[in-house]
Amino acid sequence: MGKKSIIKWWYPLAAVLLLALFALARQERAVSAGADAPPPVLVIDPGHGGADGGAVAADGTLESGLNLDIALRLQALCRFWGVEPLMTRTGEDIAYPDDAGSIAAKKVADQHARVGLVNNTPGAVLLSIHQNIYPAAAPHGIQVFYGAASGSRELAELAQANLTAQLCPGNRRVASPADKGIFLMKNAGCTAVLVECGFLSNPDDLQALQSDGYRTKLAAVLLASYLQYIRGTTT
Ligand SMILES: [Zn+2]
Repeated sequence: MGKKSIIKWWYPLAAVLLLALFALARQERAVSAGADAPPPVLVIDPGHGGADGGAVAADGTLESGLNLDIALRLQALCRFWGVEPLMTRTGEDIAYPDDAGSIAAKKVADQHARVGLVNNTPGAVLLSIHQNIYPAAAPHGIQVFYGAASGSRELAELAQANLTAQLCPGNRRVASPADKGIFLMKNAGCTAVLVECGFLSNPDDLQALQSDGYRTKLAAVLLASYLQYIRGTTT
């Protein structure tokens, strides 16, 4: 998935897809964040990275690379749409503190840094991107998890419905509370969702995730869901 080639050819496709999705979702929702709430800031978190590759597919595909690729597509689409997101990382290299010697210590330092970024950003809406894996090949599909703060469940249900409709019709997975063991999701004080975009252990999911077009669609549907969400909370 050459990073240099991802930024250009798919803009028109993604823009059309976004427009279509946004047009479908013009219904007003009765949610108000209050007049003095800070404007929303999308924080995109490509899960893992650096010393932590995340899950590994049978063919060696690393979760961290897929997460980053989808996140960079989402970042580019956001800018195309006039939204400036914050990124918890933009590459595979992560600068760790000097005293973080072991991989475990590096992971802890990295997770604390991500929580710090999120919790120091007024109006943050966290969107964490991950891939699933399971010991058996059968489980498949996209699933969105949500944190405890207000708006999280709503955004997750919105994203789950859009992702299922656009990318995996028939998917029966439903938006669910995030596992308390996920440090970032547990400690983020803002609206937060985590998207498991597919199972690296399922051949069909893996093949889809290895396609540029599929990753572009994922990014477009995530952005459309975010736009729908903030429209509902700020109008
Ligand atoms: Zn992960």
